[in-house]
Amino acid sequence: MRVVVFKATRQVAVEDVPDARVEQDHDVVVRVTSSALCGTDLHMYDGRTGAAPGMVLGHEGLGIVEAAGSAVHRVKRGDRVVLPAHIFCGVCFNCARGDSAACLRVHPGHVGGAYAMPGMGPFRGSQAELVRVPFADANCVVLPGVPGDEHEDDFVLLADAWVTGWHATELAGVRAADTVAVFGAGAVGLLAAYSARLRGASEVYSVDLVDERLDKAAEMGFVPVDARQGDPAAQIRELRRARPGTRLPGEEEMGGVMAGIDAVGFQARDRRHPDRENPRQAIGDLARLVNPTGRLGIAGVFTATDAAPAPDGGHADGSLQVPWAALFNKGVTIGFGRTHDRRYTTHLRDLIISGRARPGQVITHHQPLNNAPDTYDRFDRRADGIVKAVFRHP
Ligand SMILES: [Zn+2]
Ligand SMILES: [Zn+2]
Repeated sequence: MRVVVFKATRQVAVEDVPDARVEQDHDVVVRVTSSALCGTDLHMYDGRTGAAPGMVLGHEGLGIVEAAGSAVHRVKRGDRVVLPAHIFCGVCFNCARGDSAACLRVHPGHVGGAYAMPGMGPFRGSQAELVRVPFADANCVVLPGVPGDEHEDDFVLLADAWVTGWHATELAGVRAADTVAVFGAGAVGLLAAYSARLRGASEVYSVDLVDERLDKAAEMGFVPVDARQGDPAAQIRELRRARPGTRLPGEEEMGGVMAGIDAVGFQARDRRHPDRENPRQAIGDLARLVNPTGRLGIAGVFTATDAAPAPDGGHADGSLQVPWAALFNKGVTIGFGRTHDRRYTTHLRDLIISGRARPGQVITHHQPLNNAPDTYDRFDRRADGIVKAVFRHP
């Protein structure tokens, strides 16, 4: 089968490898129809995670079940399925509580597993013609329709990008009438903003440093905030000051936002020097922007170790300096971590099927799998307006 493999830092290739097959009774093999390229793939691509050469990349797959093991009961050959990025067993101590990203069985001796992520198990990725899905009854979400139909782009985002965006709004406790700022207008950030609006947010600000991403945020109805133009916390406070209406006593103290989301992670750019990384940039800005009693959701990835930490403020050992005292004194609630796919995927699927949500609008590029090396390169350089790219498999 043809797959995208990691070769070396900023080098991937499309190669032939032995076909995925049913290895355990609870496995299925899925023929992939669409696989998305994610900012998380770039952590491998940029040589930050210690990925081994030959690793098959991709954790956002949609396709058709081609073969099923004898212990698979809920999914059958021919079913159209999306494959949540974080693999889980469905029945362990944590899965039973809905904490599926902390599954205790899928990667024995570890907490949680995923396709194509170093440290998350041996699972080959879905930027491939075929992918093996373990614990298939839990890890295949069955979908209506046929490959290439009107929901192909919406459904592939159920594998990770939208679910992570929605999870970010859960972490930040977004509720009706909230004011929300999302740092990062990549696919996850845009879909976090989109989720905030679905949940009834009154104002949604979208902060980024890239023209095309800011344009997409505006197109989707969020207030774009260009961090190259100055402190985004100050910009948002200024925009909020200009709103009409009377204020409650003391409300001027609450001129920031009630909920903030980091959809950037450890490879954040320094806004004064966008060519440099500053992993403290987003959390520092959010700490100043969030209101007293507010909430933060941290959905951007922070790796346990960083093979090439930024010279200023980087964190080889995973430690990171944050404005702890400011957050304490404001009484801010902070939520962290990977999305618990089991809690959200079917609910979000139903928002698509009912016509309430069209997350596929964040996708800007479609490419054949053979173009993966060029697509990775352009996405990594934030070139050519790529916000979200999807590989369409013939
Ligand atoms: Zn992803
Ligand atoms: Zn489990």
